[in-house]
Amino acid sequence: MEKHQKFSLWYALIGIWVVLILQNLLIAFFSVQTIPYSQFLKLLKENKITEVAITANKIQGKMRVDGEEGKEVLFRTIRVDPDLSELLDQHGVVFKGEIESTFLRDLLSWVIPVLLLGAVWYVAMKRITGQQPGFMTIGKNKARIYMENELNVTFKDVAGVDEAKQELIEIIEFLKEPAKFAEIGGKLPKGVLLVGPPGTGKTLLAKAVAGESHVPFFSMSGSEFVEMFVGLGAARVRDLFEQAKQKAPCIIFIDELDALGKARGMGVVGGHDEREQTLNQLLVEMDGFDPKTGVILMAATNRPEILDPALLRPGRFDRHILVDRPDKQGRIEILKVHLKSVKVADDVDVEKLATMTPGMVGADLANLVNEAALLAVRRKKRVVGMDEFSEAVERIVAGLEKKNRLINKHEREIVAYHEIGHALVALSLPGTDPVQKISIIPRGIAALGYTMQVPTEDRFLMRKTELLNRIATLLGGRAAEELMLGDISTGAHNDLARATDIARSMIKEYGMSKNIGHVYLVREKRSRFLDTGLEPAGDYSEATAEMIDREIRQIIAEQYDVALGILRSNSKALEQGARLLLEKETITGDELKQLLAADLTASTVDEVKREA
Ligand code: ADP
Ligand code: ZN
Repeated sequence: MEKHQKFSLWYALIGIWVVLILQNLLIAFFSVQTIPYSQFLKLLKENKITEVAITANKIQGKMRVDGEEGKEVLFRTIRVDPDLSELLDQHGVVFKGEIESTFLRDLLSWVIPVLLLGAVWYVAMKRITGQQPGFMTIGKNKARIYMENELNVTFKDVAGVDEAKQELIEIIEFLKEPAKFAEIGGKLPKGVLLVGPPGTGKTLLAKAVAGESHVPFFSMSGSEFVEMFVGLGAARVRDLFEQAKQKAPCIIFIDELDALGKARGMGVVGGHDEREQTLNQLLVEMDGFDPKTGVILMAATNRPEILDPALLRPGRFDRHILVDRPDKQGRIEILKVHLKSVKVADDVDVEKLATMTPGMVGADLANLVNEAALLAVRRKKRVVGMDEFSEAVERIVAGLEKKNRLINKHEREIVAYHEIGHALVALSLPGTDPVQKISIIPRGIAALGYTMQVPTEDRFLMRKTELLNRIATLLGGRAAEELMLGDISTGAHNDLARATDIARSMIKEYGMSKNIGHVYLVREKRSRFLDTGLEPAGDYSEATAEMIDREIRQIIAEQYDVALGILRSNSKALEQGARLLLEKETITGDELKQLLAADLTASTVDEVKREA
């Protein structure tokens, strides 16, 4: 964008310069001398005036130039004497009663420069937008229309995202026969939001949906919508939908939705009117079209949390599909897809490659295969061997590490113990949500790993023991680090925040502290306007505040001991679970349960001791 603006600035400067020079030339060429009337009379008497045109108050004409034979220049003067014709007659001047048209001169000195400026602007705009500018086409968008024959991407080209594919199958069926769906009256999503880190194949998935259902694919990037001219983005959106409706059934894909869908009123003060207008137009269009027409809107983002909530409401992007980083098995499948396009040596072991590339996404793996192939070409080899792949892995890892996108081996170990710690405590305590999945694949920006606990039912009431167990589970991560590694890390800060919040609520809101009793200690939040900032911090005494702090600390300490105790008596499962997790990157709750069961029977026989 910046580069483009520089471009146009240069064009404008050059344009202005050219116009100035041209104008000077033209004026010199057609120069008209303004002379006083007295001089005019003098010239007339000297027979130097050859021709005049007279109006009520002006005289224009031609006069001879001194010294130069035959050369005449234009002059202009004010008419003072009402009776001139005799005088003119006497000196044999040709005269007429009207002023010669200045059309040609005006044309040359003004119209042409203006046209020139226009041409310069045209070229500059063309450079900037890559399309024909002009007021007629100002809203025509750059969304390229991929038709099915161009777009032969299918689900086979996207690997390691089976869950996402599963969710998209319904959409494909709909796009194939929108009429049938309309008849049955099934309700379909208008908007599908693909959420996941960059390079995980979101664009590829959207294209594959279009490819599988043989429909046109309109794509555009959110950042392309936000243009320099206010109103242009909104016009683009309108145009995009119009074109799409004509080609229905079809898919509209908006990449980087966050670029235009950032929550309104966020960010720079006063600015971004343009983005808001564009976003509003998008909302209007989304509300305005009937999904029965067969237009499906898909969008991708890696920052769903900053999206305007209005975009996520029912009837808009109400279906969210997670496209996460692939685990080892996923990477094996992705590598297989990309290895198809190169000749590989027999010694290439896909599983080993997958083991060497933790944390990499589909785009990194595609890049890896490409790098290895280039290396092989440089070495004049016929096929790509494991050497080339290893070297390519090293290069890419170095690049990604610089960008802080990969966690190193030591950190992976910490994360593995931490996550198994959460999971084991959760499995051992009653009243906690069942553990579904444990993963050390970094997710988002904050979490290095995660333990997914899915509640089995909606809860309206929680018992005190359940809350305590929840706190213990949250502290299980840090407890495992301390127990197995003898040190603790910063990885638990989010856990600590949540555990402390629960403990505080137990005391202040739910009256679950024996020492403080069944009281409610939270002042209702007043509206911000009334908040003078002078009110006391709470409706309780300083002493109570201290007591609350002490109680919170005590609850946390007790539950930390509970977690430590559980992990100590299951240390074998903790060790094995972490090792399994390091190897596979994701394990299920059931797999961990089996380890736990084996450990329980074994640990009664021998005490497991761990070094350091
Ligand atoms: P995103 O839109 O999520 O940033 P892309 O869809 O643009 O990612 O992916 C870029 C490239 O990386 C794709 O063209 C493809 O070659 C490769 N790629 C990414 N994810 C996958 C995947 N799951 N399977 C196969 N190739 C993938
Ligand atoms: Zn944790």
